[in-house]
Amino acid sequence: MNILIVGSGGREHALGWKIKQSTKVKNLFFAPGNAGTAALGTNLEAGVSDFQKLKTLVLENQIDLMLIGPEVPLVEGLHDFFAADPELASVKVVGPKMAGAALEGSKDFSKDFMLRHHIPTAKYFTVCSENIAEGVDFLKTMTAPYVLKADGLAAGKGVLIIDSLEEAESSLKEMLAGQFGAASSKVVIEEFLSGIEVSVFAITDGKSYKILPEAKDYKRIGEGDTGLNTGGMGAISPVPFANAEFMEKVEKQIIQPTVTGLQKDGIEYNGFIFFGLIKVNNDPYVIEYNVRMGDPETEAVMLRVKSDFVDLLEGAASGTLAEKSVEFDDRTAVTVMLVSGGYPGDYEKGKVITGTEKVSDSIVFHAGTKANGNNVVTAGGRVIAVSSYGSNMKDALDTSFKNAAVIDFEGKYFRKDLGFDL
Ligand code: ATP
Repeated sequence: MNILIVGSGGREHALGWKIKQSTKVKNLFFAPGNAGTAALGTNLEAGVSDFQKLKTLVLENQIDLMLIGPEVPLVEGLHDFFAADPELASVKVVGPKMAGAALEGSKDFSKDFMLRHHIPTAKYFTVCSENIAEGVDFLKTMTAPYVLKADGLAAGKGVLIIDSLEEAESSLKEMLAGQFGAASSKVVIEEFLSGIEVSVFAITDGKSYKILPEAKDYKRIGEGDTGLNTGGMGAISPVPFANAEFMEKVEKQIIQPTVTGLQKDGIEYNGFIFFGLIKVNNDPYVIEYNVRMGDPETEAVMLRVKSDFVDLLEGAASGTLAEKSVEFDDRTAVTVMLVSGGYPGDYEKGKVITGTEKVSDSIVFHAGTKANGNNVVTAGGRVIAVSSYGSNMKDALDTSFKNAAVIDFEGKYFRKDLGFDL
C-alpha cells in the first residue's frame, strides 16, 4: 500500500523508518518531510495545515493510508476534512478527529474529561475573563508553586510555573489578556504535583488499545534539567521506575478509563494517545494528554517495536486492533537530540551538517534539516536525533554520544547527562 506521513520532524522520520520495514508498504511519502525523510521515501510539498493540497497529493499518489504526525492538523480537523469528502472515502486516516483531538487542543476539555471519568489528575479550576475573581480565590487555596496553563495549543510554551502568589495573579491576568493569543483566552490553574515524569503511549481504534513502550524525555536545555524548556533534548526507553506494578496502575486507572471514557462520550477515536504522567508516591497522575506520538520519544520507542507497524496502523484505522499482536524489543533504546546553538532562544539556520556518513551503530533521524544543493543544512532548533540500542541505558547512551560527536554543524549542542535521574 501507499502511505503518507504528514509532518516534518524527527518523529515523522522515525515513524517512516519503522513503517518502511513492513512488507506491506509499496511507496512511502512525507508531507512536507525533511532531508532525512527524502532518503527514505518521497517528500511532497504541502504544509500540514494545507488540507486542500494534501487532498490533491493523496489522490495524485494513490495514497491508501495517511498517518498524521503532529497535533496542529489533528486539532484543526484534517481527519474530519478527509472523512467528509466522498473522493477520499477509501483513504484510511490514522489520527483522531477534532472531537478526540480536543484532549490535547483544550486543557479545560481534558481536565473535565478526566474529572468525569475519574482519571487521576491534579486539582484545577478554569478561568476566563468572566470569572477572574473566582480564579484568584482558587489560586489562594493553592500553595506555591502555582501552575497556570493556557487552554489551547501554545507550541509547548503555554505552561507557567510560578513561585509567588502575587506574580501568579498578575500572570493569570496577562494570560487572559492575550499573552498566548486565543490559546490563553481560558487558563487552567492547577495544583502542583511533585514527582518524576514518564510518557506512556497507546495505539487505539477507539475500542481496544495496545500499550507501546514507555519513555522518559528530557525537556530542559541544560544539564541537570536546568534552563529553558525545549521540544525535547532526548529520550530513554524503557523507564526503570515504570515497572510492572506501576504500569498495571497506569493501565487500570488511566488507559482503560480513557478509552472507555471516549466511548461513553460518543467520541470516535483512532490513533495514538500519549499519556504525560507524573509519579507521585508510586501512583500515576495525568499531567497532560497528547493525541499523537511524542517527539523525541518516538525516536526511541520505534526502535523497540518489533511488530509490523503498518499492521497496527491498519488495525487502528479499521477497528480491528484487537486482532493484532504487538511485540517489543527488550533492549534499551535512547535518542540524543543535536540542537542549534542558541536554541530554544534565537538561533541561526543554514549551517552545513557533516559527518552523518561516519555514524556507526546508531540510527540518525533528521528533525530540522533541509537539502541545499549537495549539502544538508540545519533548518530548525532541533536538528538531528541520534538513536541507539544498548543492553542497558549506559551502553545505549554511550553509542549515541559517540556518534553525536562525529556529526557536526556550527553551534551544535547536545545534553550529555541524559538518564542522570534514572
Ligand atoms: P508539552 O510541550 O509537553 O505538550 P504542554 O504545554 O502541553 O507541554 P504540559 O505538559 O501540561 O504542557 O506541562 C508542561 C510541563 O510542565 C510538564 O511536563 C511538567 O513538567 C510541568 N507541569 C505541568 N503541570 C504540572 C503540575 N500540575 N504539577 C507539576 N508540574 C507540572
